[in-house]
Parts: sequence; C-alpha cells; structure tokens
Amino acid sequence: MSRTPIIAGNWKMFKTVSEAQSFFAEVKGKAEVEGVEAVICAPYTNLPALVEAAKGTSIAIGAQNVHFEDNGAFTGEISGGMLNELGVTYVIIGHSERRAYFAESDEIVNKKVHAAFRHGLTPIVCVGEKLEEREAGATKEVCKVQTEAAFEGLSREQAAAVVIAYEPIWAIGTGKSSTSEDAQDVIGYIRGIVAGLYDDATASAVRIQYGGSVKPNNVAEYMGQADIDGALVGGASLEPASYIALIEGAK
Ligand code: 13P
Repeated sequence: MSRTPIIAGNWKMFKTVSEAQSFFAEVKGKAEVEGVEAVICAPYTNLPALVEAAKGTSIAIGAQNVHFEDNGAFTGEISGGMLNELGVTYVIIGHSERRAYFAESDEIVNKKVHAAFRHGLTPIVCVGEKLEEREAGATKEVCKVQTEAAFEGLSREQAAAVVIAYEPIWAIGTGKSSTSEDAQDVIGYIRGIVAGLYDDATASAVRIQYGGSVKPNNVAEYMGQADIDGALVGGASLEPASYIALIEGAK
C-alpha cells in the first residue's frame, strides 16, 4: 500500500495574521509538490486568513488543538465544529507540549481524537517518550500505551485515516534529532501496534510521521525509511525557504 508522504509545519505560538499571510504568499506554488501533502498547523487566530489564502492550492491548513466537547461553558476553548466551518482539515492532538504544560492525559487525547472525527477533521496524534523514559528503555512501552489509548473506540475506517506523529520529547527543539534508524525502529513498532489493534491493512494505511529537530538537510534521510511517511516540524517550518525545502526534500 502506498502512502502519500505528509509534511506538516507546527508553528506553535508563532506568527500574527499578517506574518502568516506574508509566509503563505512566499510558499504558494513553491511548497506544492506533486506526491507530497503539505500542511500548515497554525495558531487559531491565523486560521481564517490561511484557509482563505490556501484556496485553490494543494496546501492544507490545520489547527494545533481542539476541545473534546462540541460546545459549552469552556471559556477560551475552540470546538471541532468551529474549525470545520472555517475549512480547516487537520488538527494536531496530544502534542507533548500540551501533555506537559496543559495536563492533557491519554484519556483527553482520545476524547479529542473522537471530537476531530465527529467534525470531519483528520487528527495528527502525537506520541513519544521523555529522555528519562528512553534512558530507562521504556520508549516502546510509552508509545504503545499512548497509541492504544489514542485509538480507543475508533472504527477501522477512522483508524486508517489517523496520522500519527512520533516525536521523542528529547528531540523537540533541541537540535538532537533521533537517528533515522532509531526513528524507523520505533515507528515500525507503532505500526505493529495498529496492526494488533485492527489488522495489517489498517496498519499499512496509517501514516506515521517523525518529529523532533527535522530540518531541510535531514528530512530525506527520514523519508528513506520504510515506515516513515513524513514529518511534523516545528522550528524549521517557520521560514518560507526552509518550509519549501522540507516539502521538496520529502519527494
Ligand atoms: P522542532 O522541529 O522545533 O524540534 O519541533 C518539533 C515539534 O514539536 C513539532 O510538533
């Protein structure tokens, strides 16, 4: 089964609306490469402008979070329906920064994955171990627990549509990327988890990205690994030239 590579920029809490618009004007056309899906996951405030700018292009726009309820008294939160109506198609769920700083548990992550599907959004579900977990040899166990929890209650069809981002926490924003062999080892293992939960066809449909200090100069190395289908990129997705180079490097 051939999977379309997917490179997603995670802007985190960077860029105002005008900055997002100038970024998009620079990448339009150039970050559109046949056979590679390009996504920009931006702060909520940028989403209407980016969706508008992306009309008629092949670049998809994603959010970085979503609330698990459809509406209600949740001050400051944004629901899946609000994102869907804007024309947003992806949403990052369970990023390690949200797990660490906003107390997102595996249970909350699972509820958010269900909310994404209820509202026609494709979830990019983040899993990955902390440095001390890696050093204790617990990397695979941590990824197993997080993946199984995230997929709880999903139909086979939904499961096949999920994008998983394996992001070892020690590699995020540190410049210390995982070797492509280590990333392949864990990502192949995660694909096996999905096969165990569903079946081989579902596992071979799921796209699994690597994330953590991915740059234009190392993206091709990850893409060369059998089970790595793309990357979730923070810092290197913020400059237009670098974002374009990441998409080109994923060909
Ligand atoms: P960096 O690419 O800056 O290491 O960030 C990775 C990340 O957290 C993407 O979600």
